[in-house]
Amino acid sequence: MIPVRSFAGRKVALFGLGGSGMATARALAAGGAQVVAFDDNPDSVKKAAAEGIATGDLHGIDWSGVASLVLSPGVPLTHPKPHWSVDLARAANVEVIGDIELFARERRASAPEAPLIAITGTNGKSTTTALIAHILSAAGRDTQMGGNIGRAILSLEPPARNRFYVVECSSYQIDLAPSLDPTAGILLNLTPDHIDRHGTMQHYADVKARLVEASRTAIVGVDDAFCAGIAERLERTGRDVVRISKRLAIPDGLYADGERLMMAERGRARPVASLAGIGSLRGQHNAQNALAAVAACLAVGLGEAEIQAGLASFPGLAHRMERVGQKGRVLFVNDSKATNADAAAPALSSFSRIYWIAGGLPKEGGIASLAGHFPSIAKAYLIGEAAPAFAATLGEAVPYEIAGTLQAAVEHAARDASSDPADESVVLLSPACASFDQFRNFEVRGDTFRTAVRQLDGVTPIGGTH
Ligand code: ADP
Repeated sequence: MIPVRSFAGRKVALFGLGGSGMATARALAAGGAQVVAFDDNPDSVKKAAAEGIATGDLHGIDWSGVASLVLSPGVPLTHPKPHWSVDLARAANVEVIGDIELFARERRASAPEAPLIAITGTNGKSTTTALIAHILSAAGRDTQMGGNIGRAILSLEPPARNRFYVVECSSYQIDLAPSLDPTAGILLNLTPDHIDRHGTMQHYADVKARLVEASRTAIVGVDDAFCAGIAERLERTGRDVVRISKRLAIPDGLYADGERLMMAERGRARPVASLAGIGSLRGQHNAQNALAAVAACLAVGLGEAEIQAGLASFPGLAHRMERVGQKGRVLFVNDSKATNADAAAPALSSFSRIYWIAGGLPKEGGIASLAGHFPSIAKAYLIGEAAPAFAATLGEAVPYEIAGTLQAAVEHAARDASSDPADESVVLLSPACASFDQFRNFEVRGDTFRTAVRQLDGVTPIGGTH
C-alpha cells in the first residue's frame, strides 16, 4: 500500500466505495488523513464501515473544512451531469481529484525519479500496459502495474528510486489527475467511444491529450487524425514527441514494416525489434501496441536486446486474441473481449482461414460493418440471441450454422477446421456481442470457451496460466 501523507491531519471526503475507493480510503487513513467516505449504495457504505473505514453522509458534512473530494473514476465528474458530491465540493471551492492524482503527489514528494509510464487511448490500453510491465520485469526491473488494469494504484508498493510504475489510465482517471506527470506518456489512438460521458469527441480528445501534454516523453499513435493533430500541437510547443505508426513509414519516430519495428530519424530508418513468430502479438493493432511499448521502454532506459527478449516472452492477456490451444494445423483463439463489431474486426483481420464463433446479446448495428472480413471466414457458428440476425447478415456470403450454445459451436467448428487443408486454420471466438444472455460476463464466456477447447481430443493447451 502507498500511504498518502500529503493530507496528514486534514479532512478528505471520498465518494465511491468500489475496489479502488476502498484502497484509497485505506491509503489516506494510513497517511494520517481524516477520511469521510460515502457511496450512493448503502450496502457499500456498510461494507466499508465493517472494514474500519470512517464513513458518513457527505450531504451532512461541513465542506468548509474539507481539503479535497476524492472521487472514484466511475462517478460522473462532468457528463451527463456532475454527481451531487461534485456539486457540493465545487460550491465550497474544494478540489475534486482521484487516486491517480494522489499517487502523482506522493511520487513527487517521496521519489520523483521513479520512472512512471502512463498509458491511454481508446483501444489497446490493457494490452500495452501489460506488455510494458512484462518487458520491464523480464529485464529484471522492479515493476509495479496498476490503475485501470489489475490493482488499484494506491495498493501498489510505495515509490522508490528504481521502482518502475506502469499505469493504465481511462479518460475518467485523467480528468481526475490534473498534476499527473509521467516520465513517458502514451496516447495510442482515439476513436469515438464513451462520448455520452464526455459530451463531445473534442472534449474526449482534450482529456486524453492531457496525459501526453504533461509527459517528459510523449508517445503518440498518429494513425488517426485526432492523435496526429495532438502530436503536431505538442511538437510546436517544444515537447519531446515520439510518433508511432502501424501503417506508414513515417520519417521520424517508430513504425511497423510488416513484422519489423523500425526507428526512423530524418528519413533514415533501422530495425529496433521484430514481432516475427510472437503469437501473442499478431495483428496490426498489436503492432501499434508493441511500437508504443518499445518507445516507452527506450524512453526509460532499456536496451534493445532487453526489449526484444520481453516482447518474445509476452504471454498476452486473457480474452484478447488469447491463443488457448492447438491441434495439428488448427489454432484456437479466445477473443471474448470483443463485445461489438468494431472490437471483433482486429481478430478477423489477423487470420486468413477462420471458423468463426459469434453471437450473444446483439448490439446496435449488428455485424454489417464486418462484411470486408467475410472472405476470410470459412464458416460461422452462431450462438445466443443474435444468431438469427447474424445469419440474415451473412446470407449467401458466408456458410453458417445456428449452433445455439458455445459448447456445440466449439465442437462443430473444431471438427470442420480439422479437415481444412489450409496451412493454418483458426477456430475463433470473437462474438461481436455482449455475453449476458448466456454468461455472467465476457470473462466467463471466454473461460467456458477455453475449457471446451482443452477438453477436445488431441488439443495441446497454449499458455495455461490464464
Ligand atoms: P482496452 O484496455 O483499451 O479496452 P485491450 O488491450 O483490452 O484494450 O484490447 C481490447 C480489444 O481491443 C482487443 O481484443 C482488440 O480487439 C482491440 N485492440 C487492442 N489493441 C488495439 C489497438 N491498438 N487498436 C485497435 N484495437 C485494438
